[in-house]
Amino acid sequence: MRVRFYGVRGSIATAGDENRRYGGNTSCVVVEAGGETIIFDAGTGLRKAGADLMRAHGPTGVNAHLFFSHLHWDHIQGFPFFGPAFVPGNRLGVYGVMPAADTVDVDGHPATMELNLEALSAPDPTAGVKAAMASQMKAPNFPVGLDAMRADLSFHDLPHGEKLSLTPFVTVRHVGVDHPNGCVAWRVDADGKSVVYATDLELADGDRGDAFKGLVELARGADTLIFDAMYTPEEYEGSAKAPAAGVAAGGLFPRRGWGHSTFEMGAAVAERAEVKTLVLFHHDPAHDDDFMDALAERASSRRAGTLVAKEGLELSL
Ligand SMILES: [Zn+2]
Ligand SMILES: [Zn+2]
Repeated sequence: MRVRFYGVRGSIATAGDENRRYGGNTSCVVVEAGGETIIFDAGTGLRKAGADLMRAHGPTGVNAHLFFSHLHWDHIQGFPFFGPAFVPGNRLGVYGVMPAADTVDVDGHPATMELNLEALSAPDPTAGVKAAMASQMKAPNFPVGLDAMRADLSFHDLPHGEKLSLTPFVTVRHVGVDHPNGCVAWRVDADGKSVVYATDLELADGDRGDAFKGLVELARGADTLIFDAMYTPEEYEGSAKAPAAGVAAGGLFPRRGWGHSTFEMGAAVAERAEVKTLVLFHHDPAHDDDFMDALAERASSRRAGTLVAKEGLELSL
């Protein structure tokens, strides 16, 4: 199994010299396993992932499965720039998860991964992932519609909790996590190896809540856990100025309830689930390279062997 990081940033892409080493593209991770190509999220990193896939498999030989954690813009903006989708002959399966029936977000609205094409002011949780992709590629936001994508595209809205077998040897499953508007964490098992992609999630009750239990269950014994560590513990609590703050706002205000986590929370999940390698992911756009270096040191003294995701990082499991 090979895991390659094409976008590691959260919220918004951050080009610039100060982010050169860790990278500025938003969420996109490509897993090659059991002969299958699995992509997690379509952040701005997806553009380069598409180019690399066409180089590796030929311009009409790409056959990939794209799994969305959720549909916030930092996870979908790369989709209209995924080159293989425009070329007849390539195949792309796109997967979202229907919200659990009883899920409501912090405002009391049904949690949803989807947008209704006709009524954007009234999100419809049954519209599906295709509608969400189409609504992004539509006036006044985009010049070219979804119908310009001439590859063999298929869209799948999985029932909440459903396990998927891409082949008898490659399985994908998920669990719901706490995040505004809903989100899921994914796990791939193939070749006797496993990777968990768990971004955009908050563990507001620490290691005591159901969110923690569910995630530990999903990540149990995994080789690699990719985890949302957007904030330092100080930023999360708004408790103190962050060390080596760079351009970051540090602890000036708390981020509780914003749907993200810290390296401390990642380490707690990794320990309880007996994960081999923890990889911190979804970096705050304000955390420049120097800040990230300091964070990497803190994280590895908290749990030895912890990695910080960088654009271009490749792991062989
Ligand atoms: Zn995000
Ligand atoms: Zn999000």
